[in-house]
Amino acid sequence: TATLAASDPEIAAQITNEVDRQHEGLEMIASENFVSRAVLEAAGTVFTNKYAEGYPGKRYYGGCEFADVVENLARDRAKRLFGAEHVNVQPHSGSQANAAACMSFLTPGDTILGLDLAHGGHLTHGHKLNFSGKLYRVVGYQVRRDTEVVDYDELEAAALREKPKMIIGGGSAYPRQFDFPRMREIAEKVGAYLMVDMAHFAGLVAGGAHPSPIPHAHVVTTTTHKTLRGPRSGMILTKQEFAASIDRSVFPGQQGGPLMHVIAAKAVAFREALEPEFSVYAHQVVANAKVLAEAIGAEGYRIISGGTDTHLLLMDVFAKGILGSEAEVALGEAGITVNKNAIPYDTNPPMKPSGIRLGTPALTTRGMKEAEMRVIAGWIVEALEHRNDPAKLKEVRGKVLELAESFPLYEFLR
Ligand code: PLP
Repeated sequence: TATLAASDPEIAAQITNEVDRQHEGLEMIASENFVSRAVLEAAGTVFTNKYAEGYPGKRYYGGCEFADVVENLARDRAKRLFGAEHVNVQPHSGSQANAAACMSFLTPGDTILGLDLAHGGHLTHGHKLNFSGKLYRVVGYQVRRDTEVVDYDELEAAALREKPKMIIGGGSAYPRQFDFPRMREIAEKVGAYLMVDMAHFAGLVAGGAHPSPIPHAHVVTTTTHKTLRGPRSGMILTKQEFAASIDRSVFPGQQGGPLMHVIAAKAVAFREALEPEFSVYAHQVVANAKVLAEAIGAEGYRIISGGTDTHLLLMDVFAKGILGSEAEVALGEAGITVNKNAIPYDTNPPMKPSGIRLGTPALTTRGMKEAEMRVIAGWIVEALEHRNDPAKLKEVRGKVLELAESFPLYEFLR
């Protein structure tokens, strides 16, 4: 019955520190967000104690009557939210969702064609150290050097040449929309399955601020914690004809017991995303990213592909002689959290790349709009130009704190 603070002050202190850190800074990591109090509450419940291997109505453990209700609600809400025929809400993460989806459609040794990691793809789309690169023959597609967007004629040529069993759309650092109808057309032409990993832009799809891959892809995977603003987790959406195979690939294929507390939190997040306000949020995320890109561009910094259609943008800081790693540290000192990121055709190594990735999902959740984006763009540039001047970075940090204070976060925890 002891509280966390009483029983484990060391950990409790770090949780308090993290609450303050999230409140006091500007969170611009494109894959992060702030869940609601209701989602947090659901994730911290006694469902963490429950084993529920199997699926609602067909469990390998007793006592699953309430777990069944939760999982059915999560599934039904996700189906409604995305207009999907079948949903599996059990993957513990985006990576496990991808592993299960690949397991359903592929045999080891089959060829997959995904966006290169260096061009915005994800580890699970074919990196050599990932399961995807170890189990499958990987062929990558890239963005064009001049436009920095995917060239679908080149993708088609690669598909015709390499005969992949699966083409993968989506990525982690691609600021533009994928052409799902064209990708399906290419997949049909070569007899491949189309998988879209919408992890980054799932919330934009849910809110109607981005085209949906659901009608076009054989299978769609996602995380639930990025733009979708749920707990850290994964999910798979597919057609009825693939439902049984996908469910088998998740359990027992990739996982044992599902994390029922996280599934409860997913259900809560999906209900929130079904509300009209979530659509307003999703559109604001994109509007904010566009303004941020324009404002940074206006300061003379190069934005990859010239802008964004989504929640994220990539900034070429090396064009100004700054490494992405240096930029990440300087902005961190100024209270602005971002990540270093490779840019297409990067000539610098991954730990010291040429770019940084910026995103607006978290700031938009705090209520920030275009006016704040313009101000923040100015601070980003100020911090980068004075990256070797601790006093100046501290001064920016002061302004960041003042702005953060006027958009309070998790007041009930502070
Ligand atoms: N897919 C994409 C496109 C991602 O960006 C990510 C996470 O960064 C993942 C999958 C993996 O998600 P997780 O970190 O939950 O395994």
